[in-house]
Amino acid sequence: MSATIIDGKAFAAGLRGKLAEAVGQLKAEHGLTPGLAVVLVGENPASQVYVRSKGKQTVEVGMNSFEHKMPMTTSQNELLAKVDELNHDPSVHGILVQLPVPDQIDDHAIINAINPAKDVDGFHVINAGRLMTGGKGDDAPMVPCTPLGCLMLLEDHLGNLSGLNAVVVGRSNIVGKPMGQLLLSRSCTVTTAHSRTKDLPEVCRGADILVAAVGRPEMIKGDWIKPGATVIDVGINRVESENAKGRLVGDVATAEAMQVAGAITPVPGGVGPMTIACLLANTVTAACRQAGVEAPRL
Ligand code: NDP
Repeated sequence: MSATIIDGKAFAAGLRGKLAEAVGQLKAEHGLTPGLAVVLVGENPASQVYVRSKGKQTVEVGMNSFEHKMPMTTSQNELLAKVDELNHDPSVHGILVQLPVPDQIDDHAIINAINPAKDVDGFHVINAGRLMTGGKGDDAPMVPCTPLGCLMLLEDHLGNLSGLNAVVVGRSNIVGKPMGQLLLSRSCTVTTAHSRTKDLPEVCRGADILVAAVGRPEMIKGDWIKPGATVIDVGINRVESENAKGRLVGDVATAEAMQVAGAITPVPGGVGPMTIACLLANTVTAACRQAGVEAPRL
């Protein structure tokens, strides 16, 4: 058996196409151009690449992109002042402070200073709480982009997820925990595993849906996977190769997993492209909510 490849790159391209259409309509019918502000503090090379890519894709779907670069020596108060300025800027509907921030800055304090309505990363404690409590309407959360992208791929591939056993390996605030909440909201039976979980291979073997968000190259082996399971590999790990830049692998040993799983996301080209596409989707949603306009169905 060889697993079906879940093509996140193609799905993300389709989502961006729908977003471009929705943005065109918002401009024409409501004079509304969604705007995303990204703040980068310091010169972390990976962050610079992400920020450039976010800016480019924001413009490509017709939205406004505002980039704010601040020096490595920026103080917490200076960054808080920047967030406050963006909170009050009506052309900015989404604010993202690229993580990690330098050590002198408390990232929780910064995230929680963002207006929750503009928190397109979905990391604010209010949005985490709304996700946890299943908020609807005015109380609907902004959902963190990576788990939102994983959910879209799962629903596209499997349809209704109700009653399936889901195991999420990883319990970070940005991936593992919100992923578990989203799967629970779709009536999966959810197990969250982590570094202290006993007999992780056996726990994973119970999963109809296995989400790996660990940050350890190819940790999850083929014989940890239930035959026919759907595997979502969130991990992005650079490992050595003949190529000086190294190569990217996920948290799942893909070649082995392909022999057992029913479907699997590749790395690269699986979850990764979905993250930015969902950031754009969240910005459109945020702009619509702030303008009192019905958000497009994506
Ligand atoms: P964190 O380091 O914040 O969390 C890792 C989690 O994995 C922790 O909960 C940790 O458990 C758990 N873990 C670590 N080692 C083991 C182990 N041996 N067995 C079981 N669980 C273990 O990582 P993130 O959640 O931020 O990211 C996870 C991965 O996803 C990374 O590779 C990252 O690069 C990638 N990523 C990809 C994105 C994308 O766009 N595709 C976006 C965000 C992240 P404990 O809590 O007990 O320490």
